[in-house]
Amino acid sequence: MLVAFLFSCKQEEIAEKQPEPDPKAQLAEIQRRIDSLENFISTYPILKPAIVEPNFGLFQTLQKVGLDHKQSLKIGNILADTVEIGTLKAGQVFWVGFDPIDTSKAVLFRYAENLATLHFLMMDSRGEWVYKIVEKPMSIRYAMYEGILQEGSNLYNTLRDIGIPQNMVGVVAGVLECKVNFRTDARVGDRFKILLKEKRFQDSVWIGGNVLYASYDGSRVKHSEAFLYQEADPKSSFNAHYTEDGEALIHSGLRYPLDRLHITSSYGYRIHPVTGSRAFHSGVDYRGAVGTPVYAVADGIVVQSSFSNDNGNFIAIKHSDNSQSWYLHLSQRGVGNGQRVRGRQIIGKVGNTGRSSGPHLHFSIKQPNGSWMNPLLKKMIATPKLEGAKLSALKEQVKAIRNILIKTEVAESKSIVDSVQATVKWVEALD
Ligand SMILES: [Zn+2]
Repeated sequence: MLVAFLFSCKQEEIAEKQPEPDPKAQLAEIQRRIDSLENFISTYPILKPAIVEPNFGLFQTLQKVGLDHKQSLKIGNILADTVEIGTLKAGQVFWVGFDPIDTSKAVLFRYAENLATLHFLMMDSRGEWVYKIVEKPMSIRYAMYEGILQEGSNLYNTLRDIGIPQNMVGVVAGVLECKVNFRTDARVGDRFKILLKEKRFQDSVWIGGNVLYASYDGSRVKHSEAFLYQEADPKSSFNAHYTEDGEALIHSGLRYPLDRLHITSSYGYRIHPVTGSRAFHSGVDYRGAVGTPVYAVADGIVVQSSFSNDNGNFIAIKHSDNSQSWYLHLSQRGVGNGQRVRGRQIIGKVGNTGRSSGPHLHFSIKQPNGSWMNPLLKKMIATPKLEGAKLSALKEQVKAIRNILIKTEVAESKSIVDSVQATVKWVEALD
């Protein structure tokens, strides 16, 4: 007994000291996963890596390994419904398994969202795709980041400096920007607090997280708080940040279509740069190099993703208040008709296609009545206030978040960077 006990201890020690898995080991791991799921697949699939090439979408990536239009579309649509796939990165690998008898038929698809989260699509015996998620154990902690706005630093840099994980900076900034106009009202010395629920793999690799809470206290901005509200359905459009009274924050605020905003032509009548005649300009033109990412300004559904001689490659997104945002002259379109998109999601790249005098983004807003409006005057996409049962649920969630705040408040505080006045405190989460 004792010998066995010692032996098992020793084995665990060895297992813990193992370094990051090398590609070969990862491949073996994939194989092992597939083995454990083989009851879904009648015959053993032939595996092929589908590697994303620069400027490729999922569709093109799948076609490259031999999937036909119909199969690629099917996989793409199932994924869009079940997985938050985000933006594809060049070099990213999907694994596709083909039926060994009918080698053109895909029977397995695997997407590794991160080191600990694997998504599988498997074809069952009836020929239907079945979705499975495999999650390795992760540690979850509540981390409270506190910072003070510094001289000569903008919000994004400050958030990065205080140690907010790179992937979360945009989300945190979005929550704060709903309440604070950083161009006019932020002042050096203003204080903010961010409570993140962070998922980590092997305690060190950051996997994902949520902004549970954000607060801001400034000399020109009164104390403002934002709370995360979540419904049982992870795709619910009500999942967003609200004030304690149920006023919607993040999804109601309109984001910008580009990271850097330099208007080269404004809305209204002007001399057209190509035709030379006086014409109505239905949007604003933003300067941008070919290939610069273009973001959806709010949640919505893509109602047009196509090419025309005037617009070049263009995308139109319909939002919850029935207004539409239009993005013209793109070099690439990353989303298709009918696709649901999130605010700040990359939908394409700046280009010079169609009737355009140089690389730029033409951005327009179409009102529900079909007429164009000055996009700079469009501030909000109306999102209903939480009321009734939803408001009661929010109040419960606010209470739970305040309890977490109290717990993190008393945790040991760590200074993040010497040069920045910021601290982080955290407590392990049990759920
Ligand atoms: Zn224009």
